[in-house]
Amino acid sequence: MVTLKSPREIDTMARAGRINHATLERCREMVKPGITTEDLDREAEKFIRSHKGAKPSFKGLYGFPKSLCISVNEEVVHGIPSPKRVLREGSIVSLDCGVCIDGFHADSAITVAVGKIAPETQHFLDTTERALAAGIEQARLGNHVGDIGHAVQAVAEAEGYGVIRELVGHGVGTKMHEDPQVPNHGKPKRGERLLEGMTIAIEPMITIGDYKTKMLADKWTVVTADGSLAAHFEHTVAVTRDGPRILTDGR
Ligand code: MG
Ligand code: MG
Repeated sequence: MVTLKSPREIDTMARAGRINHATLERCREMVKPGITTEDLDREAEKFIRSHKGAKPSFKGLYGFPKSLCISVNEEVVHGIPSPKRVLREGSIVSLDCGVCIDGFHADSAITVAVGKIAPETQHFLDTTERALAAGIEQARLGNHVGDIGHAVQAVAEAEGYGVIRELVGHGVGTKMHEDPQVPNHGKPKRGERLLEGMTIAIEPMITIGDYKTKMLADKWTVVTADGSLAAHFEHTVAVTRDGPRILTDGR
């Protein structure tokens, strides 16, 4: 069931979103060769909890043990932070963060270069971020969920990248995952109609190779089946009369 949020509820989500953005920016600055994914997680949790009433949404969600999902290189999503996981020069790392305040969640992700990366890898990251922007642009009254997926897919596939099918964006609000599903592929004018007060997480998960994925033995980490690099960018967006309102971009 899709729940529509009042302007006041959207403002509460925007407060969660601002903390989410600040958390990710703090972690982005920490990313460098030699740091562990556990270091990033610990800082994120401490920073989120330093805001009165704010909690990390992911900790304990479906039993997930940490505050951030941190996924390196061919890992797509849901990587578990670990003191054994040391970031290496030339890698890419996806940081996915959820923040809850006054019962409402915000969900956002970025993919960051570790030290110096290859120009084609940077282009891959830039394209995935551009795919997210194209999807957000379609989050307008009268459009459908398919318009978002179509826009994301068009940007990614124009560069020959793979659009992951098994994982999708989602409604977000009092629960981290609500209806509707927001796939990163689709056809214009198909799927759920976008209504005023919908709040959705738009989150392209793109690979530099094939789009097929598999699950690691930890039953959390999703990796590309062909071992190619994966990128993930995400914003929580409200559909409003004035167009898409991004709640996790720090404004
Ligand atoms: Mg997320
Ligand atoms: Mg999400």
